[in-house]
Amino acid sequence: MFEQIVIIGAGQAGYSVAAKLRELGFNKRIIMIGEEDALPYQRPPLSKAYLTGTMERERLFFRPAQFYADENIEMRLGQRVETIDRAARTIRLGPETLSYDALVLATGARPRRLPQRLLGEKVHVLRALSDVDRLRPQIRPGRRALIVGGGYIGLELAAVAAKAKVYVTLVEASDRILQRVAARETSDYFRELHNANGVRILEGTDLQALAETPRGFTATLSNDESIPVDFVVAGIGVEPNDMLARKSGIACNGGILVNAHGQTDDPAIWAVGDCANLPLGDRRLRIESVQNAIDHGAAVAANLLGAAKPYVPETWFWSDQYDTKLQIAGLNIGHDRVVVRTAPGGKGRSHWYFKGNTLLSVDAINEPRSYMIGKRLIQAGQSPRPADIENLEIDLKRVMETLT
Ligand code: FAD
Repeated sequence: MFEQIVIIGAGQAGYSVAAKLRELGFNKRIIMIGEEDALPYQRPPLSKAYLTGTMERERLFFRPAQFYADENIEMRLGQRVETIDRAARTIRLGPETLSYDALVLATGARPRRLPQRLLGEKVHVLRALSDVDRLRPQIRPGRRALIVGGGYIGLELAAVAAKAKVYVTLVEASDRILQRVAARETSDYFRELHNANGVRILEGTDLQALAETPRGFTATLSNDESIPVDFVVAGIGVEPNDMLARKSGIACNGGILVNAHGQTDDPAIWAVGDCANLPLGDRRLRIESVQNAIDHGAAVAANLLGAAKPYVPETWFWSDQYDTKLQIAGLNIGHDRVVVRTAPGGKGRSHWYFKGNTLLSVDAINEPRSYMIGKRLIQAGQSPRPADIENLEIDLKRVMETLT
């Protein structure tokens, strides 16, 4: 049994490890170190309710400070770990050296920035509370925003800004928004939704140059347009925070490489959440989602205490844009067919991704029922007939019953 477990990173996954360790009865020392000067908090509202100002700051935090005191989880916030000495099993924290029996890297990811020639340092990103503090004052009626990147964060931000009567132009370099993560049908739906709300979406368009002006910026786009804007935000994806691991000689390749138990190639060091590159079937991947951060953290806590249980990620994700809720069950990687089901009355719809006859994932748009049923089918490893999904005469519940 370990005497001292140190967790680097006080985000969703780091919190999950610490809370689960205590829940499972680990009563020795836990130290959690976080670079941000804030108790562990949820990030999804940063591009949704918290950004609009409808959610209070206090509600972002998983637990109040008292929880960590009661659970005897030592919090070192506002401090960044720069070095790991693996031979001595210590880490350096400013002038202090802390030892560990087991070390968990829960260092998350950082937003990609635009290069210096595009004034990267002056362009907003959206990852941390401090980013929202800088960005929120910009979101005011009549302002003009350029959003670079049509992934979930760029689109959620566009929705918040458009609702606040900001004039929004969003450029996406690839030929459609959400290209990396969703089928054409889902992209089409969200493009229409944004257009209907006054957001100008330019796909296959890149930011070529950005020049500062007395009032803001002039953005030159690859379609030869030059547009004046007041502020610019980049939502162009993230990079895993694996610098500390790399510096320490831990194997990394697109994130910190872990085995199915969450362990790196150093048996005393584990990695969880966004920073970890994990095995899934015959491939490796990083999963950037709340559900993964929670589940991976909990699985690694159990494995630290000897469970020796492989972690199999179940991926659930969501996005809120205007009054539309997108819920995603499963991972669509490798799909070769998308089947569309439109809910009776035409209010909601769902996109079912198949590989051959195997159901991989479901995008449910204002359709919680499809999401729930799709999720249960995927969890059970069962696949409905694509024709039954398309056929509105067939109740989804019946589809499930015939399979179980
Ligand atoms: P993080 O939450 O990034 O935490 C890592 C922490 O480690 C950070 O605080 C970092 O500062 C700290 N750290 C890094 N290096 C060091 C160091 N050397 N020393 C000390 N501390 C260090 N997911 C969903 O499923 N649904 C959503 O709708 C959704 N919306 C999102 C909206 C936004 C705006 C963002 C930014 C993310 C969203 N996500 C969403 C993704 C989700 O929030 C992440 O997958 C999740 O936060 C990952 O948790 P983590 O603990 O691995 O990393």
